Amino acid sequence: MKEYLLVIDQGTTSSRVVLYNKKFKIIDIVQKEFNQYFPNEGWVEHDALEIWNDIKNLIKKIIKKNKLLSKNIISIGIANQRETTVVWNKKTGIPIYNAIVWQDRRTGLYCSNLRKKGLQKKIQKITGLELDPYFSATKIKWIFDNVKIAKNNLKNNNLLFGTIDTWLLWNLTEGKSHLTDITNASRTMIFDSKKEEWSNEMLKIFGISKKILPKVVENSYNFGSTKLFGMPITIGGMAGDQQSATIGQACFNKGQSKSTYGTGCFLLMNIGNKFKISNNRLLTTVAFKINGKKMFCYEGSIFVAGSAIQWLRDNLNFFKDSNETDKLYDKANDDENIYFIPALTGLGAPYWNSNARGTFFGLTRKTSKEDIIKATLDSLSYQTYELIECMEKDSKIKINEIKVDGGMVKNNNFLQSLSNITQIKIIRPKNIETTSLGAAYLAGLQSGIIKNTNQINSLWEKDKVSKAKISKNKSKLNIKNWKTIIGAVNKFY
Ligand code: ADP
Repeated sequence: MKEYLLVIDQGTTSSRVVLYNKKFKIIDIVQKEFNQYFPNEGWVEHDALEIWNDIKNLIKKIIKKNKLLSKNIISIGIANQRETTVVWNKKTGIPIYNAIVWQDRRTGLYCSNLRKKGLQKKIQKITGLELDPYFSATKIKWIFDNVKIAKNNLKNNNLLFGTIDTWLLWNLTEGKSHLTDITNASRTMIFDSKKEEWSNEMLKIFGISKKILPKVVENSYNFGSTKLFGMPITIGGMAGDQQSATIGQACFNKGQSKSTYGTGCFLLMNIGNKFKISNNRLLTTVAFKINGKKMFCYEGSIFVAGSAIQWLRDNLNFFKDSNETDKLYDKANDDENIYFIPALTGLGAPYWNSNARGTFFGLTRKTSKEDIIKATLDSLSYQTYELIECMEKDSKIKINEIKVDGGMVKNNNFLQSLSNITQIKIIRPKNIETTSLGAAYLAGLQSGIIKNTNQINSLWEKDKVSKAKISKNKSKLNIKNWKTIIGAVNKFY
């Protein structure tokens, strides 16, 4: 009998279901984009029911397409967009408001007010996070403050909260499992990551009732089973997308780092089993907890990465296909020195300035579209450098190499730019679909087809290693220029 693992990779703009064989090779992927709602400036919402229906249909589709029966599936893993907040009625299964997406900034003013009250330090000490609309806490509060039926329903014990992992699991198990995993919990800003429990202090600050919260468990766990596709299938693995990619890249040891370059960029560094807060505005989150072993990581996020390439393609019409940027990079003028600050939707770590906007610097009469493309790809290398610098300062560990993944790393010139500017080794694995791979490993661990994380280490395969081709001095000079410019942009906004 053929046996497979099925992974739900629920992202910000599309949902995917990926079929893996027992050797963790991808057999098939089905995907669907879904609607994005922007009801106000800075607001971003999803229809949680649409997401669930898409996932259910994608699972049915991949099972049918590959002529499988539910008994051929060993286990299901879930990797998901993090922080996005759903509150639903457990009797009807209907959300009381659209899912408020991690990108949503509607609680910005509320966060600034809390900051003025001096709460940032306390929040960081308990949750490891920045006081920012990015995380779930203020989104939950907004729903309870603004949705008329919320308070009454809460009184009647009708409501549940979940991030997308919890929402999907609850639907898969037809309301039986209301659980989340520790990595998703650590992004809500109401979870005490050190003590591993919902924080009463945070719940009080945000006025959130404990009774709507899911139970928090390890990443590899028997989360329940689904009977929606025939015989019951266990859900055995769950992690937030970036932590799932960290597992997919086998960053199990202190000091190992991975960086994902998709729509946004997320650099995570494993800092070991002790919770440590950052002095350089990085986030501390749980990397994973597997078989009782918990590891933490520092995380730095860059809000605009691949989306800057999309902007060059769709708004400036510089090329039709993002893959062309690799060849176009080679045609940039050697003597042009253009810098681009791609703050199209603000600046992430370490600036956390959501008002900042994009800026070009150093344009001349000769500047070509290729120079702009090069400046855009290089801008991600400079931002990666700045995150590495913060991580090294905070952790006192030297980063010598980074494992990379995500849509942008198909671009070899980008890999070269990364290693030139950071002056470290940039390593691309054979499978750059590391987000789904991590969840497949977690489900594999739970079902027993892999025994431990050492085995995952031996499954990880490298594809390409990029090393710096420019001198340290040249890269230092460029970084100095970059810092002057980004510093000025940050100050201006
Ligand atoms: P996500 O999972 O966030 O949707 P992906 O990992 O699928 O993102 O990556 C898609 C992003 O990668 C897009 O924003 C696209 O602009 C960018 N991209 C895709 N191919 C290339 C390429 N060859 N060079 C640079 N960027 C690319």
